Amino acid sequence: MQSCKRATELMSQQLDRELSGSEKLSLKMHLFMCRHCRKCDAQFKVLHRLASARSQVDKPDKD
Ligand SMILES: [Zn+2]
Repeated sequence: MQSCKRATELMSQQLDRELSGSEKLSLKMHLFMCRHCRKCDAQFKVLHRLASARSQVDKPDKD
């Protein structure tokens, strides 16, 4: 069983790159069993959405 630390790393990495099949599966399994990490995962998704929304706003509008 992977640790919460490893699960958190995968959550962070999946924002930057596509996880491999086994990485996705182990993260999914961990989230299924660990309430704490489910909460973290939800927060990661919110943060990522905010960050990408902001980078679109900050994009310089060249004319
Ligand atoms: Zn966990």
